[in-house]
Order: sequence, then structure tokens, then C-alpha cells
Amino acid sequence: MNCMWCDSDKAHEARNSVFWELPDGTRAIEIIDTPSIKCEECGMEYQEEQIINEIEDQLLLIDTKKLLKTIEYKKLMEIPRFLKQNYFRF
Ligand SMILES: [Zn+2]
Repeated sequence: MNCMWCDSDKAHEARNSVFWELPDGTRAIEIIDTPSIKCEECGMEYQEEQIINEIEDQLLLIDTKKLLKTIEYKKLMEIPRFLKQNYFRF
């Protein structure tokens, strides 16, 4: 896999913690153990777009008021979504 920043082939899958602002902008949470890509060449560590989209979607579809300050990525994705059927009618 190639690094999205320097195109080196020394990028590999990793896990890291990311701070994420909630969609309503009220606060940020820390998502730990998030799938990421780490590049040994330039040192960048980043989330792939697919992961970013998954987190963004999930935060829009769950009750974020119940979220603690820190959560594991896996646990975040397991939170049941609500009002899913109405989502696209906003
Ligand atoms: Zn790189």
C-alpha cells in the first residue's frame, strides 16, 4: 500500500487514537484503536477516506449525547443507529 502523502510503499495498516468533533460542533471525542495507515517514510499517520466516512455517518446516526469522552472505534460502530429510516428526509 502506498502513502497518500509521499507515495512511499512503506505505509502499512495501524491503529491510532483520533480526536473527532461531533457533527453538532459541541465537543470533540477521542476515538481509540481506530484503523489507520502509518507511513514509515514520512511519518504520517492518517485515516483512509472510507474510515472517515464511516465515522462521520455513524456520528450523524447515533445519539451522540450519550457518548463518553473516549470510545473505542469498534464500540462506536456497534452503537445502534436511530431514526435511520428518516435520515434522508431531513
Ligand atoms: Zn509517507
